[in-house]
Amino acid sequence: LTSRLPHVGTTIFTVMSALASETQAVNLGQGFPDFECDPSLVDAVTLAMQAGHNQYPPMPGVPALREAMAAKMQALYGLSVNPNTEITVTAGATQAILTAILAVVHPGDEVIVLEPCYDSYVPNIELAGGVVVRVPLTPGTFRPDFDLLAAAITPRTRALIINSPHNPSGTAWTDAEMQKLQSLLAPTDVLLISDEVYEHMVFDGLQHQSAARYSGLAARAFVISSFGKTYHVTGWKIGTVVAPASLMAEFRKVHQFNVFTVNTPMQHALAAYMANPAPYLGLSAFYQRKRDLFRGGLASTRFKLLPSEGTYFQCVSIANLAVPERDLPEGEFCQWLTREIGVAAIPLSAFYGDGFDQKVIRFCFAKRDDTLLEALQRLGRL
Ligand code: PMP
Ligand code: GLN
Repeated sequence: LTSRLPHVGTTIFTVMSALASETQAVNLGQGFPDFECDPSLVDAVTLAMQAGHNQYPPMPGVPALREAMAAKMQALYGLSVNPNTEITVTAGATQAILTAILAVVHPGDEVIVLEPCYDSYVPNIELAGGVVVRVPLTPGTFRPDFDLLAAAITPRTRALIINSPHNPSGTAWTDAEMQKLQSLLAPTDVLLISDEVYEHMVFDGLQHQSAARYSGLAARAFVISSFGKTYHVTGWKIGTVVAPASLMAEFRKVHQFNVFTVNTPMQHALAAYMANPAPYLGLSAFYQRKRDLFRGGLASTRFKLLPSEGTYFQCVSIANLAVPERDLPEGEFCQWLTREIGVAAIPLSAFYGDGFDQKVIRFCFAKRDDTLLEALQRLGRL
């Protein structure tokens, strides 16, 4: 058998979590909370099951959840969304991204990704038979370079994938950057896949600049969210995609033969839970406090802190550490850090097709304070 994905192995997140558990290291690698979600959200699932919501929901998702999402898109981003034709509930952002790509990318179409990028994008494009076009974010700052982006757009460009707030760098696109993107795409037919799973984690008073806020972007975009990130339930694998009706019709053609539907009781639970905006409106402050706790502890080490404007990730440079292992490739350094120092992290090289090594690693701070303090104590030895 010839592999469809010859370059793909096991994801770095799975590899590092397995190593962390084998070595009993503090796992700041794979991005997920080590604390529980709001118990009332769990109660809402039980209630939904007891109320008999245990059979297939409608293919695009439970109406109450689509209506709640439409109301939220209007309230937060000023986008008027028809819940019947413009929202679909997906099995997490992962499925939304793959399904969007399969729905619009024909073999030979070019799809632009901005590197470093989340690890599923490139294999997803390859599965669709698309041609991956990699445009680097500016080294050091991870900000978009619009000259490079403009140069990458050709008549064969079908779509561009963006991700703000950005995994792994923690940068969040500004209004000016979104405006530039809107102007750049205006004369083209390029579609936009906007991965916004960290939309409710932006710090220091910054605002999340959803593609939904920009009419020229929203008209060509799949805007993708994840309840897993927003409500501390990454294992639930449930999210949404919002797109104009014409794009959504194509999306649903694939979705119905991909998963068909997403589990019913959790959709009812989330619809009920979304009636209270406080949990998502308070999420930035919740994570900003954790970010500051973690950054405060790292400030007295030789790790050089990069900005973290959003997400639950903090990147650091290892270039100035006193230990000789700082000269190892990032991936080997992370293995050493896990085994010998007892803290797992993710090498940024894993987010580049060519394994670009800039001596930067990523920590996840979506952890209990005692977990973060334990990690800081161990990292303080470096
Ligand atoms: N996109 C990005 C940038 C992510 O960090 C993640 C979570 N790892 C996903 C998509 C996938 O989200 P989900 O768990 O909802 O599938
Ligand atoms: N998105 C998470 C991260 O970046 C991990 C998700 C996964 O394991 N695929 O760490």
